[in-house]
Amino acid sequence: MDEFSFIDSIKQATYKQSTLLKGTGDDAAVFRQPSQDIVTAVDTFVEGVHFSRQTMTPFHIGYRALAANISDMAAMGASPVFYLVSIVIPTHWSESELNEIYDGMRSLATTYPIDLIGGDTVSGKELCLSITVIGYVASGKARYRNVAEDGDIVFVTGTLGDSQAGFHMLTNPGQFMDKGFYHRRHRLPNPRVDFALKLENIPRLALNDISDGIANEASEIAEASGVSITLTFEKLPTSESFGQFKKEQQRNWILFGGEDFELIGTVSKKNWSFVKQAAKQTNTQLTEIGYVDTSKHFVYLQEGNERMPLDKKGYTHISR
Ligand code: ADP
Ligand code: MG
Repeated sequence: MDEFSFIDSIKQATYKQSTLLKGTGDDAAVFRQPSQDIVTAVDTFVEGVHFSRQTMTPFHIGYRALAANISDMAAMGASPVFYLVSIVIPTHWSESELNEIYDGMRSLATTYPIDLIGGDTVSGKELCLSITVIGYVASGKARYRNVAEDGDIVFVTGTLGDSQAGFHMLTNPGQFMDKGFYHRRHRLPNPRVDFALKLENIPRLALNDISDGIANEASEIAEASGVSITLTFEKLPTSESFGQFKKEQQRNWILFGGEDFELIGTVSKKNWSFVKQAAKQTNTQLTEIGYVDTSKHFVYLQEGNERMPLDKKGYTHISR
């Protein structure tokens, strides 16, 4: 395959961002931002480690990789505006499969004011997709993990465990309810950008996206803030037909499953009504799931009348 015709084929004909001065085609992209803070993140996906062709088409791989990056912007309260794609292409991948990856990314990108402004193309042994995303946030308004305080309400968007349930269905053929829904939750996740942006006027808010399981994300907020988070198990939201799975599976996927790309946050009781309002305005399911205090451990799980320390058994790739 000719690298130049490939780059030509993925190059955007027009750009949405007026702050962009130079997009794809020079040695680097240029944008000018006079007033807002710039937020940036990168995520890398390796075939066989982060995704497999058994459960994902190239379209899904592209869509999901960009969704994970955009979700990081949501978790920072930022609006995603640019992305760059670095791709390692194995020789056994065809040009049409590659184009499908970009179709997946473009498909998600249509719902945001985001432009593809560059990247890098090399060949190698395994498909590896690394996406850098850039977002804008009102000056001083980026949402950090270290601002949770004693007395805060803990909330979460959407439902938990669906992505892992979808993965389970894709890897264990059998009779399941709502297959399409769970497959979509796994392959085509929907980052909560609109909701996060609507929270802009709340003075203090800790926010994290659920990439590694709620136990792990809650722990990240608690550790960074030096507080304790108690999650009430009975309150953790699940989708309608989640009861079809074994109790043990449900529990594992809800607490440690991850990759739902929902948002967990903490906010003062005083500002809770603004969070509920933002959810209503953006049609986002929102659930109060616990509280912040200053106990000994970082995260607790309340089940019935019992409160037990909760381990952050989410996925931590480095230790595996
Ligand atoms: P250079 O030799 O300066 O690194 P390249 O030939 O790698 O330039 O890239 C040419 C242009 O195409 C640059 O603007 C670069 O950002 C863009 N580009 C290269 N590969 C990709 C890719 N996989 N996705 C998006 N843009 C790309
Ligand atoms: Mg290059």
